[in-house]
Amino acid sequence: MSEAYDVVIIGGGPGGYNCAIRAGQLGLKTACIEMRETLGGTCLNVGCIPSKALLHASELYEEARTNFADMGIETGELKLNLEKMMGQKDDAVKGLTQGVEFLLKKNKVDHIRGKGRIAGKGKVVVTDADGKETELSAKNIVIATGSEVTPLPGVEIDGERVVTSDQAIALKEVPEKLVLIGAGVIGLELGSVWRRLGSEVTVVEFMDRVMPGMDGEVSKQAKRLFEKQGLSFKLGRKVTSVDTSGKTLKVSTEAAKGGDEEILDADVVLVCIGRRPYTEGLGLETVGIEPDKRGVIANDHWKTSAEGVWVIGDVTSGAMLAHKAEDEGTACAERIAGKAGHVNYDAIPNVVYTYPEIASVGATEEQLKEQGRDYKLGKFPFMANSRGRTNHQTDGFVKILADAKTDEILGAHIIGPSAGELIAEVALAMEFKAASEDIARTCHAHPTLSEAVRQAAMGVEGWTMQM
Ligand code: FAD
Ligand code: NAD
Repeated sequence: MSEAYDVVIIGGGPGGYNCAIRAGQLGLKTACIEMRETLGGTCLNVGCIPSKALLHASELYEEARTNFADMGIETGELKLNLEKMMGQKDDAVKGLTQGVEFLLKKNKVDHIRGKGRIAGKGKVVVTDADGKETELSAKNIVIATGSEVTPLPGVEIDGERVVTSDQAIALKEVPEKLVLIGAGVIGLELGSVWRRLGSEVTVVEFMDRVMPGMDGEVSKQAKRLFEKQGLSFKLGRKVTSVDTSGKTLKVSTEAAKGGDEEILDADVVLVCIGRRPYTEGLGLETVGIEPDKRGVIANDHWKTSAEGVWVIGDVTSGAMLAHKAEDEGTACAERIAGKAGHVNYDAIPNVVYTYPEIASVGATEEQLKEQGRDYKLGKFPFMANSRGRTNHQTDGFVKILADAKTDEILGAHIIGPSAGELIAEVALAMEFKAASEDIARTCHAHPTLSEAVRQAAMGVEGWTMQM
């Protein structure tokens, strides 16, 4: 006899576990199947959390090396203990994955270890580590299987010298020369970590700018600041192969259009050209679901084309972000329970946790131009923000875009200290369809970095005061 559930979720990442918790809260009999040892998915195990733990620790290391003396803090010889740094990262991961385990239990969700496979309408088969199969019956199946690294043809991942982010968050030694393929978010974040710890980092990017989807002005400023820190960019170029036969890796690159070959030396190569949906062995054919060319399973309010089968997170359309997956998980559980689950895709923030941080929400200036939308713009530099100056954190700016007629905020782009925290204010404002004047007339504490957001909002109507 198969165990009967209202909801069976395949995948225990931010999409899956949040969906499971919400379903449990709403009184649905729920199971969450995860094939990893621990819950939390890519995000907690090998993504957001370990990378942020390393970004934080390496930023402190760099601060101590470069800025402490100027602030009157004298230390002895500064030394890196990489093993310990990796240990504190692993502790953060362990604590948080155990926290998710606890939350599932608390909300009466069954955590089932093993690989899940859809076996027809309302049926899921789980194969555990010993190969034992268990059948579950489910009124609703939620696909939350996430994503995997996009491979690069001609470059074979060996997990030691040619790696993905899975291994780049756990290198045992600081590579002397690190070559990253792709100047996207992983390239900038993990490139920053290893540069701060002592690597010579070169980033090869196919497009002619870093973080190609980002607001153009922010992308330009980011490139300038990262170059000042010592990252080296080869833009408009692609990697064609990596020769691993010698002690030093030989990375062949050429212009994106072809020709102009250059070979780079490397001790480690990190492939970070994006991620793709993961649906291997999922049995989609048994319910007639066909992913598109990129492997994406389409959805309409998280419903797939198959009755009783839902999809959320990286495996479906939209940004591959943990908080987007979480929100979809919650909304999907609410829909299953007959409620009005909702996600506002226009107000999902995007943060790159480099120094300075880069954060955005809503449309870029380029997108507004493309749409032919009439907009106004306010901008404020951290150089003129009193807290930024006090903390010697003056690089970057806040830019706010608003509708020319209604003043509704259409987008915000921040490069600067704590940008990832500052963007929340604008995301909330957009959620309430606020005008830029609403932020401009809201009292902000002094001296705070958030005053830069207010001043940028004042700038939309041309009454910035602190310049
Ligand atoms: P996942 O987290 O990938 O979870 C899916 C889970 O399903 C996995 O644990 C997998 O083992 C399991 N699974 C798959 N198939 C099956 C099956 N058949 N049976 C059982 N289990 C299965 N996003 C941010 O918002 N902020 C960040 O700072 C950030 N940093 C990142 C850093 C790195 C290095 C990486 C790689 C990603 C980062 N991301 C970040 C992206 C974020 O991790 C993903 O967007 C997020 O994890 C997606 O959640 P998900 O639940 O859709 O999928
Ligand atoms: P990405 O999409 O951010 O960047 C990939 C980059 O590689 C792009 O700039 C692209 O133009 C470039 N590229 C593609 N093919 C190339 C080639 N052949 N040669 C050279 N460059 C090439 O992808 P990523 O950095 O691998 O990150 C994967 C996903 O993980 C992202 O979509 C992101 O959503 C998520 N992530 C988020 C965070 C965060 O929110 N802070 C951090 C890490 C990862």
